[in-house]
Amino acid sequence: MPDIHAFALGPLQTNCYLVSNDKDALVIDPGGPPEPVVRQAQTRNAQIRMILNTHLHFDHLYGNQALHKATGAPILVPEKDVPLLASGLGRGNYMGMPKVEDFAYQTLREGRQSFIGLDCLVLPTPGHSPGSLSFYFPDLTAVFVGDVLFAGSIGRTDFFGGDLETLLDTVRSQLFALPPDTRVYPGHGPATTIAEEQAGNPFFVE
Ligand SMILES: [Zn+2]
Repeated sequence: MPDIHAFALGPLQTNCYLVSNDKDALVIDPGGPPEPVVRQAQTRNAQIRMILNTHLHFDHLYGNQALHKATGAPILVPEKDVPLLASGLGRGNYMGMPKVEDFAYQTLREGRQSFIGLDCLVLPTPGHSPGSLSFYFPDLTAVFVGDVLFAGSIGRTDFFGGDLETLLDTVRSQLFALPPDTRVYPGHGPATTIAEEQAGNPFFVE
């Protein structure tokens, strides 16, 4: 059975997710030293095959290179966020935060694909950053949204490339189109569901 483990990593306690499917696993947003994630994968006898970033803000990236070194897994990033890596927003060394270790990456494509034997729909969900992606796994009834949507809140839109109207439209058109029982795994704080946010998120309740 595929399953999901959450870890709060790094200076901003960014949520990192280990998704495993039998002997294969992937990691979303390793935002700090990845040892607990590697140990959990070992416990499950699963190999980490890929590292996905929902967006390229520094606090989601701190563990990228260390996890790549530990596992050999490629790092896949949203193409439209790549320009952020030239600024403090992507590289760290910003707002008193440490620097992100350099890493090599490939860019993700949008649309339906297969990761570690699981169907994944890669959704463009801009607004918090220009290239933010969400990863919807129908077989897990789960979507990983980065900092676009939180339990009872939404991501900041005041960083470079963020835009409030875009974010609100993104959530309505992309995320709220998913089945209501879909579990939402955000970049910070607790998980929620599409139905709970449609009914109770103050940014979307009329
Ligand atoms: Zn962010």
